[in-house]
Amino acid sequence: MRPEVSLVIPVYNEEESLPELFSRTVKVLKGLNRPYELILVDDGSRDRSLALCLELREREGSIRVASMNGNFGQHMAIMAGFSLARGEMVITMDADLQNPPEEIPKLIRAMERGHDVVGTIRTFRQDPLFRKVASKIVNKVTNRITGLRLNDYGCMLRGYRRRIVDLIIQCQETTTFIPALAQKFALSPVEVSVKHSERKKGESKYGLFKLIRLNFDLMTGFSMVPLQAVTMTGIAVAVMSLGFTIMLILRRLFLGPEAEGVFTLFAINFFLMGITMMSVGIGGEYVGRVYQEVRKRPRYVIRHVYQEEQEDD
Ligand code: UDP
Ligand code: MG
Repeated sequence: MRPEVSLVIPVYNEEESLPELFSRTVKVLKGLNRPYELILVDDGSRDRSLALCLELREREGSIRVASMNGNFGQHMAIMAGFSLARGEMVITMDADLQNPPEEIPKLIRAMERGHDVVGTIRTFRQDPLFRKVASKIVNKVTNRITGLRLNDYGCMLRGYRRRIVDLIIQCQETTTFIPALAQKFALSPVEVSVKHSERKKGESKYGLFKLIRLNFDLMTGFSMVPLQAVTMTGIAVAVMSLGFTIMLILRRLFLGPEAEGVFTLFAINFFLMGITMMSVGIGGEYVGRVYQEVRKRPRYVIRHVYQEEQEDD
């Protein structure tokens, strides 16, 4: 039977969280009283995650497990899950129980009210302070430069209607940010508040650099504003230094040559060198992504899908 609800969970080295995740999630899914499927995508875990997923599949029905051919990142793992999902409603959730599975019915109700994308806002978010502050800034900046409207980009407990999932699958970009992509296609998006817990077991898979890289994907993938900002800054600096030069010429003519202030000049110089390097970097972020696209390597590789034969459609 075709499932109505597909739940996609990316799993990367989460062996400690999985037992509780499975028991709570399966209970919620069964309580929905409608056909469902659970799609677990193992994103190249090096611990026992895959084995645990397969064990669960032995015990429970309606579970498919995809094992990725290496670590492709959370968003690609979800993409892979989307390519397998058959439900009319597709929900994504993290494996670490920071998003309580008990909130899933809330998302379904919102979709049944006619919303095609249901985002979530984490109330009383339980994460380190620096993550919360960084997210606030990222949410604001992203809304500003992409023209999208979302309060919480980071919370991955989200629901999508079939039409949206199909559109997301059609986007073949190698780096992406799924909530923003969905927001692009949404006709009637909504955000609901959900509870958030701290990560009890295992550790966050996002170190500082991975977070920065992810946010560059978000910025570059959905906007040209960073590039335009570089051009604007260049124009502003050029105009200002022209004014500065004219001032110095006049000063030299009327007051004599200027010898002091070497260090001020150095400071200004280093500041501008910094801006120049950053601008080259920003340009490079786009160029690098273009290079990734033209190489046309597969953006993710599924090694194997563990499922019943007849599910293979
Ligand atoms: N994840 C993944 N591949 C990765 C990194 C993370 O599939 O390369 C999964 C991870 O197992 C979890 C979810 O993505 O289910 C979110 O990761 P995490 O909880 O570490 O992120 P945070 O909550 O710290 O933002
Ligand atoms: Mg987490």
